[in-house]
Amino acid sequence: MVDSGHLERSEDFIPIGEPDLSPLEREMVIEVLVGGWLTRGAECAAFEEEFCRAVGAAHALALNSCTAALHLALLVHRIGPGDEVILPSLTFAATGHVVVHAGATPVFAEIDPETYCLDPRHVETLLSPRTKAILPVHFGGHPAELDSLRELAERHGLALVEDAAHALGASHRGAPIGAGKSCACFSFYSNKNITTAEGGMLTLPSEELLDHAARLSLHGMSKDSWKRFGSEGDWRYQVAEFGFKYNANDLLAALGRAQISRLPEMQERRARAWSFYQEMFEGDPRLILPSEQPGVAHARHLYVLRLSEESRAERDELVNALRRKGIGATVHYDPLHLQPAYRERFGFKPGMLPVTERIASRIFSLPMHSRLNDQQLNRVSTEVLRLA
Ligand SMILES: *Cc1c(COP(=O)(O)O)cnc(C)c1O
Repeated sequence: MVDSGHLERSEDFIPIGEPDLSPLEREMVIEVLVGGWLTRGAECAAFEEEFCRAVGAAHALALNSCTAALHLALLVHRIGPGDEVILPSLTFAATGHVVVHAGATPVFAEIDPETYCLDPRHVETLLSPRTKAILPVHFGGHPAELDSLRELAERHGLALVEDAAHALGASHRGAPIGAGKSCACFSFYSNKNITTAEGGMLTLPSEELLDHAARLSLHGMSKDSWKRFGSEGDWRYQVAEFGFKYNANDLLAALGRAQISRLPEMQERRARAWSFYQEMFEGDPRLILPSEQPGVAHARHLYVLRLSEESRAERDELVNALRRKGIGATVHYDPLHLQPAYRERFGFKPGMLPVTERIASRIFSLPMHSRLNDQQLNRVSTEVLRLA
């Protein structure tokens, strides 16, 4: 009997995201294995330098996840108990969790109905004397409205921390995400635009913030272990604060260096898949296509469609029907403020964010990655057009 679990593993299944690995990744990882230094070392430093060059960042710190990057970005801005952080609810759990882990309170704001990114006008109505940071998500790879958010942050003395997990390769008014004057947090989880299996990068505007984040990523200790254990320097170290175990390692970095060198090529193929879908769905009154505002370059991480009022399809049924057909459709995301952990801790209720809740109930994501071929894209599009 063929159940959906079987289908997911079959050859015909088209996953929502897929790692794109070439012989270069293999060679570079093997080189590190042969070299014998596995944890944070020269390979991480090279990855950071190459990442900075790729996105125009002033400084970068390789970490073991984007979640770690988000957490450290809040901590180096001294966000803690009693503080409020404003963020969208249409996001992955990590964006909200790090606020809670920092000891602060998440305040969810509405999204813009076109871009699905944080709505700066609603953010402004939520500002309080306790607000300490704004945490926008570049949803799906579309940059958030950074001009207004930066202006708001500057006017009220708030930190701006960008969840750029979807946004590697995106830019806003010609500036790549990561090149700005705020911390940006990138993910290299296996389905992201580049992958290191697990991993993340924190870009920072100053050396002072970098030094603090680096120390917090290694137990709050005053020196990298690779310097302590190397021939230079002595064994002495100091534990300056209660840090975490968030550092990257050289195997991860080798994968990352290979991947970042192939980013333009992989983005090109994402763009091709994107255009294929756009051409198939353009003009269909049942579907609202992903928007791309003037002045932005989209990272094309997620391809998110929305059912219009004209569609008679039921969203959950549509997603399940696609999955039964071997198409890895899913939903990004169920609003975070309505998840049990958030409702129980903060008393959030349905109806609190009407725009977000309405949009979240009508959207679904289609397979989007750099290895999709025309036959797969055609299969996905045909099924969507049949079911919408
Ligand atoms: C993937 C993702 C993260 C977390 O990334 P990890 O590297 O898995 O920690 C955070 N925010 C968003 C929006 C994501 O999609």
